[in-house]
Amino acid sequence: MSTDPPAHLTAESAALFARAQAVTPGGVNSPVRAFNAVGGTPRFIERAAGALLVDADGREYVDLVCSWGPMLLGHAHPEVQAAVQEAVSRGTSYGTPTRPEVELAEEIVGRTPVDKVRLVSSGTEATMSAIRLARGFTGRDLVVKFAGCYHGHVDSLLAAAGSGLATLSVPGTPGVPAASTGATLVLPYNDREAVEAAFAEHGDAIACLVTEASPGNMGVVPPLPGFNAFLAETCARHGALFVSDEVMTGFRVSRSGQWGLDGAVEGWTPDLVTFGKVMGGGFPAAAFGGRADVMGMLSPEGPVYQAGTLSGNPVATTAGLTTLRLATDEVYAGIDRAADLLAEATDKALSEAGVPHLVQSGGNMFSAFLFDDEVAEVRDFDDASSQNVERYKAFFHSMLDQGVYLPPSAYEAWFLSSAHDDAILDRVVTALPAAARAAAAAPARGDR
Ligand code: PLP
Repeated sequence: MSTDPPAHLTAESAALFARAQAVTPGGVNSPVRAFNAVGGTPRFIERAAGALLVDADGREYVDLVCSWGPMLLGHAHPEVQAAVQEAVSRGTSYGTPTRPEVELAEEIVGRTPVDKVRLVSSGTEATMSAIRLARGFTGRDLVVKFAGCYHGHVDSLLAAAGSGLATLSVPGTPGVPAASTGATLVLPYNDREAVEAAFAEHGDAIACLVTEASPGNMGVVPPLPGFNAFLAETCARHGALFVSDEVMTGFRVSRSGQWGLDGAVEGWTPDLVTFGKVMGGGFPAAAFGGRADVMGMLSPEGPVYQAGTLSGNPVATTAGLTTLRLATDEVYAGIDRAADLLAEATDKALSEAGVPHLVQSGGNMFSAFLFDDEVAEVRDFDDASSQNVERYKAFFHSMLDQGVYLPPSAYEAWFLSSAHDDAILDRVVTALPAAARAAAAAPARGDR
């Protein structure tokens, strides 16, 4: 199957990709960007505004990736840009405390269940630090995570399930020592019995359970009603900390993240929370925060060490703060409406083309799983893995050819911004039927 349009339409991207491959492993600085999961040439983006990306060949795309979540207000938002330019004019890094980092921390503490927050530069750093803090606070080593949840490339979290439930896990990639993942338990998502069994066997050794507040890294697989509350309660019963990873959902699905959506309703409160993406407004900023007594263990107040040269960088925190202040309830209501509209249109197009599928939503994040046979629900990573990725590849490339940039992998959430207005959404809706027909024509898993 050809995965690219005629060469002259991707010539510049292809040339840049060749140069990049000569000097960077795989030609990219983060693996999914290489298009390995969908084939073809990654598009090198030269500029973006609102909901649109423009590549090196001058082709325009409606962006349904939004930098993997951060661009809640769309690209090059004039007020964010102005604030950033003003910040840059005063210097870009001092290695001292600054006003915008205090104000960003106040904004986060004001909107979420955390008492105190520490700013870092990436989501990976946030989860890595939260886990160290949980271990330092509890004096225990074991960490529980779920298969299909991604928390950044932290050694102990790049773990694959061991031979049975509640057994300790093995490294998920070369380069991670068995000693790192040997203290991690990997369980199936949404599976209360597996959680009960793991805590029954190891409860007094578990420092924390870390979960995506609503997973988007195996495609969108929302928690079953009450699941987060159950996790929080189970952790509390065993003296372990409940770490809610809101790097993706935080300030994206609501003014305070997934906790704001169902935490208040279901009554769950995390002990520690990690944030990233939207709170950096398109710059490298992330955070972890939580209970005052737990955060009090962090250096220099307490003994658990953590630090960063560029942590709380004044330009990044200005971008994040400006973004959060502009992210009003109306912004979220608009993105929710747009997400519902596109999820329904995607569902309809796939149904009309006869593609067995599920479009699942978690707040305003959603994704489509394309199968060979009807599937009732995707509840965990095993369910997600039953999709036929050949169908997604065909769907993706048809959308790309029609000027819509979807995530270049079947295991990712689709993201919208407040810049996705009716005219932009129309362009996506118009492209869907042909993409759905392309997916229908892709080979079934057994036929390959
Ligand atoms: N946690 C979650 C839920 C994420 O989705 C990601 C990245 O996608 C991370 C952590 C890691 O963040 P970063 O890529 O900024 O290191």
